[in-house]
Amino acid sequence: MGARVALVTGGTGGIGTAICKRLAAGGHRVATNYRNEDKARAWQDRMQADGFDVALAKGDVSTPEDAESMVREVERQLGPVDILVNNAGITRDGTFHKMHAQQWQEVINTNLNSVFNVTRPVIEGMRARKWGRIIQISSINGQKGQYGQANYAAAKAGMHGFTISLAQENAKFGITVNTVSPGYIGTDMVMAVPEEVRNKIVAQIPTGRLGTPDEIAYAVSFFLPDEASWITGANLAANGGQYMGW
Ligand code: NDP
Repeated sequence: MGARVALVTGGTGGIGTAICKRLAAGGHRVATNYRNEDKARAWQDRMQADGFDVALAKGDVSTPEDAESMVREVERQLGPVDILVNNAGITRDGTFHKMHAQQWQEVINTNLNSVFNVTRPVIEGMRARKWGRIIQISSINGQKGQYGQANYAAAKAGMHGFTISLAQENAKFGITVNTVSPGYIGTDMVMAVPEEVRNKIVAQIPTGRLGTPDEIAYAVSFFLPDEASWITGANLAANGGQYMGW
């Protein structure tokens, strides 16, 4: 496949960091977005100390203008984006009958509209160059639903609808579009859940443990090589066997 330019949104987070490391270790030139410069530079320094170079471009993925200028900055620093991992995401949990419009909108804007905002500025270049890999990081809860996460589950299920449509539109252009749906991974997002709730979650996972960010990074890397060019529109569950549906 050779070295490619990869953009991982939310690369400074738990899963994003592992994806950035895996792509950089694979010889790719990797970039991620940031919102807070000091926080991002400190992260970049830690990555460098571990031997991984990751370029930074400022941008909030929940707005089209920011996302586009972020993509253009990545292109300026590294060149056109060949691999896009739409990973940035948030939770704003609450049962629906008490949910505020802001909780709904923040999650839809960050987790789903971001996929439009970031993919739109890279897709034409990929089509022109006849090669691309677009991977959405969705969630097990987009597949099975989750009490208190109507907003999050709607956004995450929407990502897969996006994936299977984009896969059809771009298959003839050497572009594959796939989803990875992680189960519960031991990042800050999950460790913030109260311990007794977390223990109940672990009890539902056949492997008997939370997943690791590296295991999600591996699932992402599965879609990258030329040998994977027949695999498009797939939803790869990486969830320790917790959910085995679509
Ligand atoms: P983290 O909270 O550790 O990281 C989230 C990343 O997204 C951060 O880099 C954050 O940046 C970035 N981000 C959030 N909002 C925006 C925004 N508006 N614009 C730009 N960047 C933004 O989460 P995880 O690593 O745990 O999760 C990564 C993805 O995996 C998410 O999409 C999540 O939904 C999904 N997932 C996670 C699971 C888990 O168990 N952890 C399970 C299933 C799916 P900043 O530092 O600026 O906030």
